[in-house]
Amino acid sequence: MNLYDVVIIGGGPIGIACAIEAQKKNLSYLIIEKGTIANSIYHYPLYMRFFSTANLLEIDNIPFITTDPKPGRKDALEYFQAIVRTRKINIHLYEEMLSVEKSKNFHITTTKATYEAKHIILATGFYDIPNLMHVKGENLPKVKHYYTEPYPYTHQNVVVVGASNSSVDAALEIYRKGGNVTMLIRGSAIGERVKYWIKPDIENRISEGSIKAYFNAQITEITEDKVFFQHENEIKFLDNDFVLALTGYLPNFKMLQNLGIELQGEDLIPQHNTETMETNVKGIYLAGVVCGGKQTHLWFIENSRIHAKMIMEHISQSA
Ligand code: FAD
Repeated sequence: MNLYDVVIIGGGPIGIACAIEAQKKNLSYLIIEKGTIANSIYHYPLYMRFFSTANLLEIDNIPFITTDPKPGRKDALEYFQAIVRTRKINIHLYEEMLSVEKSKNFHITTTKATYEAKHIILATGFYDIPNLMHVKGENLPKVKHYYTEPYPYTHQNVVVVGASNSSVDAALEIYRKGGNVTMLIRGSAIGERVKYWIKPDIENRISEGSIKAYFNAQITEITEDKVFFQHENEIKFLDNDFVLALTGYLPNFKMLQNLGIELQGEDLIPQHNTETMETNVKGIYLAGVVCGGKQTHLWFIENSRIHAKMIMEHISQSA
């Protein structure tokens, strides 16, 4: 069995950035990715546009050339796939990390094999586990926690839950393809972090009544043809065909705990040294958005791509 200096779990933007830094330090490495390259981005809404401009998504200063300042999903997929190809990144796709045993080195068991490594980087992101509402009926097939495109929802009564970027993008797209959209929003306003060029659009559609919105509202139950919700001290209902519960996503806390990583505070921030990114388990590092625990808005590509350099600096000093 090969002994790698480092095995990187997750082939998203930050896992790829780690691989490039490992190459520069002449460290042997392997990325294990459970889906395709940049698998989270592959599963984003088809027509999503990043809030970051292309230059802020660049890895290792490799130019990210787009005709629009803000890239879309397809641009990002082209970019990261081209990097893997041209930089000859050592990556195994459609292979999931299942468990890790520690003896002298780490033994990493995946769905296909076992690998030995001196260090592990977890760059597993947060897009695989939806933040559930925990209401009756949430498991009905008409309730979706991921949104892909508007066409299935045309001429349908659609409830969009939430007021974040994902919810607002979905509400606007579906409304413009003839869906009858109602937003159920727990807070009292559209989210502060909604993209600045989108916020006026949704607020104007709500104020003119093209998209209905209930603020300070909370779903209590979903049935085959209705949604019940609490609003102004009353239980109200809507006739309903689909619910898009775009209430955010969470890192895989169970996997982190199984590896011995301590989760701190209410936000379950995985314990790590912010200068080296090493966790409380010596030799296991965190990179990218997995670092933020439940605060998934804290980290993004722009401010977490630096983790790759920090980690490889530390590993190469200890290798
Ligand atoms: P991810 O891209 O999530 O990569 C994690 C990878 O790990 C995935 O490919 C996953 O399949 C893999 N994986 C997980 N578990 C395992 C396992 N057990 N075994 C093997 N592989 C595993 N950020 C920005 O900087 N700018 C933006 O404009 C922006 N817009 C966004 C829009 C949306 C809709 C969303 C959801 C996020 C957005 N983000 C944005 C956040 C951005 O997507 C993330 O910052 C970025 O994808 C994080 O990269 P990452 O490599 O840390 O994690």
